[in-house]
Amino acid sequence: MIEIQKRIREIAKAKDMLILAHSYQPPEIQDTADIVADSLELARRSRDSKAKKIILCGVKFMAESASILNPDKKVILPAHDAGCPMADMIDADQLREEKRKHPNAVVVAYVNSSAEVKAESDLCCTSANAAKLVASLEEDEILFVPDQYLGSWVAEQVPSKKIHLYPGFCPIHQRFTEEDILRIKGENPDAVVLCHPEAPPRIRRFADKILSTSQMIRHAQSSSETRFIILTETGIAHPLAKACPEKQFIFPDSRIKCANMGKTTLENLLEACETEELEIKVPENIRVRAEKALERMIALG
Ligand code: SF4
Repeated sequence: MIEIQKRIREIAKAKDMLILAHSYQPPEIQDTADIVADSLELARRSRDSKAKKIILCGVKFMAESASILNPDKKVILPAHDAGCPMADMIDADQLREEKRKHPNAVVVAYVNSSAEVKAESDLCCTSANAAKLVASLEEDEILFVPDQYLGSWVAEQVPSKKIHLYPGFCPIHQRFTEEDILRIKGENPDAVVLCHPEAPPRIRRFADKILSTSQMIRHAQSSSETRFIILTETGIAHPLAKACPEKQFIFPDSRIKCANMGKTTLENLLEACETEELEIKVPENIRVRAEKALERMIALG
């Protein structure tokens, strides 16, 4: 650990701060954090922690989720302008308009959405639990926002449900090309292809398994296979290598990198811990409604 990381750890300990990092964060940030996980696990761990302050190394919707679940804790986002282009593709007015078009549908919001959108939704999901949660609903008609690709994957898994898709998408997973996948598969015919459900169907069709980030790491650990082609954000290379140092992970395109995830630096993390200025606080009238959607997700698993 270098000097600045030690300083961050000292301050976090002295100030009773829990540092959470998403698995797409830069390696040096992951190595400084208390916990590295996917969105669902970060939400759970923030809620279960007794720490007074949460430093969320990720993007805005993740800090909002931590704030929604922890109204008594101070939540700080070091990269204060780190947003998510997919989450920004729908706002509360647009969702209300979709609800008018589908008045009987249950609204399922991917956690990659704003607090306002969560507040307008019946329940939230992550890429790890979306299909399971939709399958568990009594209702047969679903309005799924904002990720049309995760939604279409859920529709494939749960064909008994009528799922209306909102046309949002992750611009990062959209960047994969069929040519890149065919080339990398041709060069590595023995490698198992693991793909994130945020990838479009034209890319998912090449996958041996469709898995969320946490599921990819667990699968790589438990599998007898030793070589994997990974179709998701390249930040996951770090936790994969730490979890399975003896295995090989192949990325078809180094440009599959989320600029917003890369906005956290050791410098702005240190500054956030020192000043405690970059707080994310969800207004109470929105928080209370968004909490119901998040808690319903956590209760359903
Ligand atoms: S990788 Fe995609 S979904 Fe995740 S924060 Fe970046 S733009 Fe949003």
